[in-house]
Amino acid sequence: MPRKLLKKENDSPLNITSQIEDTILTDTKTDPVALQYLPSSLEKVIHLNENPDPIGDHTHSPVKGIVHRHNDRVLLKITDICPVYCRFCFRKEMVGKGMGVLTEKEIDNAINYITNYVEIHEVIFSGGDPLTLSNRRLQGLLTRLEKINHLKIIRFHTRVPIVNPERIDIEFLDIINKFSKAIYIVMHVNHAQEINDNIKEMFSKLSRTSAVLLSQSVLLKNINDNILALENLFQTLIDNRVKPYYLHHLDLAPGTGHFRVSIKKGQQLMSELRQKISGLCLPAYVLDIPGGFGKVPIDDCYIKDLENKSYLIKDYEGQNHIYDDTQALDD
Ligand code: SF4
Repeated sequence: MPRKLLKKENDSPLNITSQIEDTILTDTKTDPVALQYLPSSLEKVIHLNENPDPIGDHTHSPVKGIVHRHNDRVLLKITDICPVYCRFCFRKEMVGKGMGVLTEKEIDNAINYITNYVEIHEVIFSGGDPLTLSNRRLQGLLTRLEKINHLKIIRFHTRVPIVNPERIDIEFLDIINKFSKAIYIVMHVNHAQEINDNIKEMFSKLSRTSAVLLSQSVLLKNINDNILALENLFQTLIDNRVKPYYLHHLDLAPGTGHFRVSIKKGQQLMSELRQKISGLCLPAYVLDIPGGFGKVPIDDCYIKDLENKSYLIKDYEGQNHIYDDTQALDD
């Protein structure tokens, strides 16, 4: 079994916004918001199975700024800057390292790649955080993507709305409404305590644009690894018109072991949640397979093939039922 072996100096930058300060409510050593951002000596402990590129971005990068893992979609990483630096970040070896924004030439190359690869249906702006770019820059990028006919969806993965809600200004809201491509905004939030009145107001403004609002969260030890925290988080999001999309199992980035929850516990939490809250509130519990093999759901398995066109189905209370599928006729 891989165990702690190496030690290294803490090298992740520290950045806190006034919004975060406002949502830290208790002792910083135990506060679920503070723990996400404040450095810990435990970050110096690196486990053998941890990897600076845990989900294999480098392996799938044909052009600087592009990660092309699945045929129909690409990640577009325009900047390495984030508004905050999460201590458990899966790209902690890549973000906040001073690269800044891609050069104009690099952006041209990335957009040419998307233009020339006609199977690309979706572009995902991902971390560093795309909403750290100015409105002028974002509008310029969206204008260029708007002209690519085979591209239908633009997705933003962002932490900015949650840690700096003022950034979601009128100009940004107008930009979102200007384009004909479907825009999805996936906001990273891990605890209901992060969703104070400022954030609710921002959700309300964003929900009146044409964008679809989703959330992604990371399952984190001592932050949200209990039923009450997850129930409050997902319910609060749904109440504010944000659909919980992903609950990520923590990636194996170096120095993040103190945040790691077992898959077994993650599955138990999801099973209990299924009994307590509506399906609308439930995200998919997912793991990015280390090495860049993509994301898969890792929720508890509710179905077992009995190999005679019948299945054993487990209900949310753990009781088994037989499902007879013999009448279904596949081609
Ligand atoms: S905002 Fe996202 S990319 Fe940036 S440090 Fe946090 S987890 Fe990493």
